[in-house]
Amino acid sequence: MNIYDIATIDGDGIGPEVCQSAQTVLREACASRLRFTPWPGGAAHYAKTGSVLPDETFAACRAAHAILHGAAGLPGITYPDGTEVGNDLHLQLRFKLDLFANVRPIRLYQGVQSPLSGWSAGQIDYVIVRENTEGLYASRGAGVNLRGEVVTDTLVVTRKGVERVARFAFELARRRNGAPRDGQRRVTVCDKANILRSYAFFRAVCDEVAQEYADVAMDYAYADAITVHMLKKPDFYDVIVAENMFGDIISDLGAGTVGGLGIAASAELGEAHGLFQGAHGSAPDIAGQDIASPLATILSGALMLRWLGERHADAALTQAAARVERAVESVLAAAQHVPHDLGGHARCSEITRAVCQELR
Ligand code: ATP
Repeated sequence: MNIYDIATIDGDGIGPEVCQSAQTVLREACASRLRFTPWPGGAAHYAKTGSVLPDETFAACRAAHAILHGAAGLPGITYPDGTEVGNDLHLQLRFKLDLFANVRPIRLYQGVQSPLSGWSAGQIDYVIVRENTEGLYASRGAGVNLRGEVVTDTLVVTRKGVERVARFAFELARRRNGAPRDGQRRVTVCDKANILRSYAFFRAVCDEVAQEYADVAMDYAYADAITVHMLKKPDFYDVIVAENMFGDIISDLGAGTVGGLGIAASAELGEAHGLFQGAHGSAPDIAGQDIASPLATILSGALMLRWLGERHADAALTQAAARVERAVESVLAAAQHVPHDLGGHARCSEITRAVCQELR
C-alpha cells in the first residue's frame, strides 16, 4: 500500500487556516495514506529571511508526491520593482517544476446560489485549463523599464507550450461527459487571435492538435467576448483552454458565477509534479478570524487525491477524491454550515468539522 509524501506550505493570510483545514479533511478521507510535512515559505517568511521559497522547501516540494499550499502574499511586501513577493512562491514552483497546466473547475454545487439567475446545480460545470508557464506572465521579473519612460513585458508563446496544454485540454474533455447544455465534448480556445500574432499562433497550434481528437468539438472565443458568454450561456462550456493571463482572469470570473473564490479549486500540473491550492489569494482582510472558507482548498485537495490516484493507479485515492467532493456537496446542500462568502455564518473550523462528519 503506497504512502504519499505531501509537502505543505501554509503561506500567508488565510493560507494557514485553509491549508490546515484541507489536511484535516484529507486525513479523514484517507487515514494513513498521506504523510504531510510542513515547509516554510511566503511573504512573511521573505520579510524575515529574504527568501520567499527557501531552497530546502523547494527541494522538499520536488521530492514529494504532491504539494498542498494555502496561499501566499501580504500587502506591502513587494520587490523593488513594485511586484508582489508572495506570488513568487507559486510562480517559482510553476516554472521550476514545469507545472504547465493550471486546471480550474467551475462547477455550481447544490445549495450555492449563483449570482446569475436561472441556473441550478450541475448546469454550470466546465473546466478552465490555463497555460501556466508561458504567455504574458513568462516575462515575470524580466520586463524592461527604459529610463522610467517606457516599460515592456513580452508575451511568449511556443509551439511546444501550446501543443502540450492543448493536448491536456482535449484529453480532459475525453474523460468528461460533455457540456451540460448538449452533452457535447467541446474544447473552447480563448484568445485574441484577431489582434495579435502570438494568439493567432496559439489558436493555429490548438487547431493542429484538434485533428487528433475528432470526437471533441472545437470552439473559439475571443477573451473579451467570452466574459459575456460565461455569464449568458455558461452551460455551453465543457473545457476552455487559454493563454496564461487570460486564463487567470476568466477563471476568477468563472469562480464568481458559482459562488466566488472561496469555493474555487485549482491544480497546477506538469509531467512529474502537482501543486494544489485554492484559486484565491491570501485574503489578508479576513485572515486569522476563522471566517475564511476552506472549501476551495479542500476541493483542491480532492483534485490532489484524484491526480495521485490516476498517476499511481490507486483506486482507493480516486474513490477518496469522490468522497471528499460528495461530502462538500452534502454540507453545502444541507445549508447548515454555509461559509461567510456564500452568505452564511459558518466558521472555517465548523465547516471543516462538518465535512469530516459527512465523510464519517
Ligand atoms: P491573488 O492576486 O494573490 O490571487 P487577490 O488580490 O486576487 O489575490 P484574494 O486574496 O484572492 O485576492 O481575495 C480577494 C477577496 O476575496 C478577499 O479579500 C476576500 O474577501 C475574498 N476571499 C478570497 N478567498 C476567500 C476565502 N477562502 N474565503 C472567503 N473569502 C475569500
